[in-house]
Amino acid sequence: MALVNLKDVIWDAYRHKYAVGSFNVINMEFLEAIIGAAEQCYSPVILAIAEVHFPYVNIENITPAIRDVARRARVPVVIHLDHGTSFEAIIRALRAGFTSVMFDGSLLPFEENVNRTREIVKICHTVGVTVEAELGHVTGGEGGKGNTQQLSPEEYYTRVDEAVEFVRRTGVDCLAVAVGTVHGLYKGEPHLDFDRLARLNDALRIPLVLHGGTGLSAHDFRQAISLGVAKINFYTGMSVSACDAIRESLKRKPDTIDFPGLMQDCKRSIQRVVERNMDIFMSAGICQTPNTLCNACTGCALKPTPSGESGSEEDLIRRVTETTVEVLRQFGY
Ligand SMILES: [Zn+2]
Repeated sequence: MALVNLKDVIWDAYRHKYAVGSFNVINMEFLEAIIGAAEQCYSPVILAIAEVHFPYVNIENITPAIRDVARRARVPVVIHLDHGTSFEAIIRALRAGFTSVMFDGSLLPFEENVNRTREIVKICHTVGVTVEAELGHVTGGEGGKGNTQQLSPEEYYTRVDEAVEFVRRTGVDCLAVAVGTVHGLYKGEPHLDFDRLARLNDALRIPLVLHGGTGLSAHDFRQAISLGVAKINFYTGMSVSACDAIRESLKRKPDTIDFPGLMQDCKRSIQRVVERNMDIFMSAGICQTPNTLCNACTGCALKPTPSGESGSEEDLIRRVTETTVEVLRQFGY
């Protein structure tokens, strides 16, 4: 059984200077391509579903399949809600069996972001689910719908003093920071504020998260990893490669009626992109001895599972409900 939460994988990444990729799942092809890449590369992996993709992927339908795939995988797998902005999405993800969530209050005023993140942390930690939050704001359209905004203006960048206060008051497990990346495709060369990233890392000493991974150079990724980034979100590049694969196949066989064949082409191209990124993020090979995560982790079917599961589904739902009600009362709802 290799279903784990974020803490189980990103602290090892943070300490040993590599990053675990978080790859968005849209359908079964994405799921199988990403898991295939992780097993091929012996890499831990985060399977993410973004709230913005809820219209395309029914989480109650797909999560049982993801959990089953995760349990049978020979690498540790995190099921993570990406950019949860509503309380409802967080609770739905918990109930569906996610092991980790991101609550994105980055567009809220600072105090409101602190308060709402803190209540989500309290609920999620009660049931062993990890929480990522965002401070500052990574611009561009999450979900890679062809958004090509200009680079993030500096006023959106994460401020070090605010980040220290935010982490102290919320108790989040990791923090997404805004240092010049954008969601979707870049217009022009990306320029990351590595100096700010270094100061954030020195001040916070918790794993940092980089969003907007598509389009950065291997050099930029690795420099960010050396400065505390232990989770990298990557989506647009997979979507681009899937669309390219379909275009290419239809060019070769314009009269095809072989839909499953097209899906296979998509899957292969997505898997190649994910494998390439696992190499760049230096998570490839981490699930092989003598690496520390491999020695400690749950991925190998021969080892017992220390965490990531929290009892029966009924027990989980009961505890989520009780804690949610308690928190809502506390915050005067
Ligand atoms: Zn993002």
